[in-house]
Amino acid sequence: MSYIRKLIAVFLFLAPVILFSQTEPVDLDMVHRIRQEGLRNSQIRDISFHLTDVIGPRLSGSTGLTNAYEWTSSQLEEWGLSNVEIVPWGEFGRGWDNERFYIAMTKPYYQHLIAVPRAWTRGTDSLVAATPVLVNIQSEDDFEKYKGRLQGKVVVTPVTSEPELSFQPLASRWEDDELEQLAQYPEIRPPAYGQPRRQPSDWFAQRALMQKVNDFLEQEGAIALLNASGTYGAVMSHGRGYATNIEPGMPVVDMTFEHYGRIVRLLEAGIEVELELDIRNRFLYDDLMGYNVIAEIPGTDRNLRDEVVIIGGHLDSWHAATGANDNAAGVAVMMEVMRILKELDVQPRRTVRIALWGAEEQGLHGSRNYVRQHYFDPAGGGRKPDYDNFSAYYNVDNGSGRIRGIYLQENDALRPIFEAWFEPLADLGVSTVTMRRTGSTDHVAFDAVGLPGFQFIQDRLDYRRSYHTNMDTFERMQLGDMMQAATVVAVLVYHTAMRDEKLPRKHFDR
Ligand SMILES: [Zn+2]
Repeated sequence: MSYIRKLIAVFLFLAPVILFSQTEPVDLDMVHRIRQEGLRNSQIRDISFHLTDVIGPRLSGSTGLTNAYEWTSSQLEEWGLSNVEIVPWGEFGRGWDNERFYIAMTKPYYQHLIAVPRAWTRGTDSLVAATPVLVNIQSEDDFEKYKGRLQGKVVVTPVTSEPELSFQPLASRWEDDELEQLAQYPEIRPPAYGQPRRQPSDWFAQRALMQKVNDFLEQEGAIALLNASGTYGAVMSHGRGYATNIEPGMPVVDMTFEHYGRIVRLLEAGIEVELELDIRNRFLYDDLMGYNVIAEIPGTDRNLRDEVVIIGGHLDSWHAATGANDNAAGVAVMMEVMRILKELDVQPRRTVRIALWGAEEQGLHGSRNYVRQHYFDPAGGGRKPDYDNFSAYYNVDNGSGRIRGIYLQENDALRPIFEAWFEPLADLGVSTVTMRRTGSTDHVAFDAVGLPGFQFIQDRLDYRRSYHTNMDTFERMQLGDMMQAATVVAVLVYHTAMRDEKLPRKHFDR
């Protein structure tokens, strides 16, 4: 190729890039001001401390979550946000507070055990001593073996899988080559002929048997059921049914694998084991509703102020600790975004709204019902009038790691827009725009009905190790990372609220 032809080739290659960055405006003065406020005057530490240490666990339907509604809404009000409201999304079910919990092994020697009571189960209501019994039920035929033998006993089931030794680092950030790979769309495969469908019948059969086993243990008068959950002292929290049309189940204790395994091995060897436990749980029936916390910075453009840009994260947590990574981190980041924008007295053309969701952990109930009420109700005629006034929803719920990029949920039209907005943030480590989808957080409620909803690519840190456990406390939150995240989100939200058009949508024909 001649020199000139080479130049032309280079120009043709670069031309679209130049055009894109020219078409999507970036307000560098505002980027500078947001960076100053977010990185120099951050309130992340104080917000995080309140959400975790001061308020405590925020299980759906618990007193802690009610306190969190109160504190977040009064804080948003104090910052001068408008239309601050605690709004019901629908009926959740009965609430539950754990008021006391203790479990120890007293024979063959004394040892305190690391465990957590399962949410929405009954307590023992006093300190009781009880013998654990190994119960192995594979089918209903096995019930006969245990009839009359479980009265006043704690039921332990055999260990079926052991935790594997992990050689993974305890925490990690995305490496450059990993981000590069993430930016690639996954290998495209033609649809397979006669693709086998997953068989749900096994799972249903297993579930039905589990229910029968539980009924049997209750009838036989067992005191409690032990379950192995989590390793290295980190116990995973779980829950049982909270709907008011089913009876609360028997006491269940989730215990770290190492402590559970020892009890099982001793019992299998025929060595006498004795436990003592005290579980006091209270069910709350006064208010069965679930809520979201909403607040706004109203839009100022006469033609655009009915349109909204929403940011959010879920306020509820599991109960074994203070739900720091999951998801006080996301809530703190989004509250800080609103504080930054308010502090800078930005005058957004569109309305900027924060939504702190309830009951995400039980199935995105807060966000799904919000979308149903305001934007799209599949059972009630589909699109609502506000469907056309929606621009975008941004979510943070993958721990406290800094933002490295965004998942476009396969919406091609958004790539040049985010690339332009990320450009002045490159030094903060934000650059990756991937076409891929990600799931499992509240943005799904919007994405599922054709509205632009996003979750960010966040550094993983030690999220996988701690979420839902008794170790998900303030210590898990990397405050510097969260300052970066709030700054990045504030820049994106500002530009989403200011641009001439709403964000482009994917084709959605329902
Ligand atoms: Zn979460």
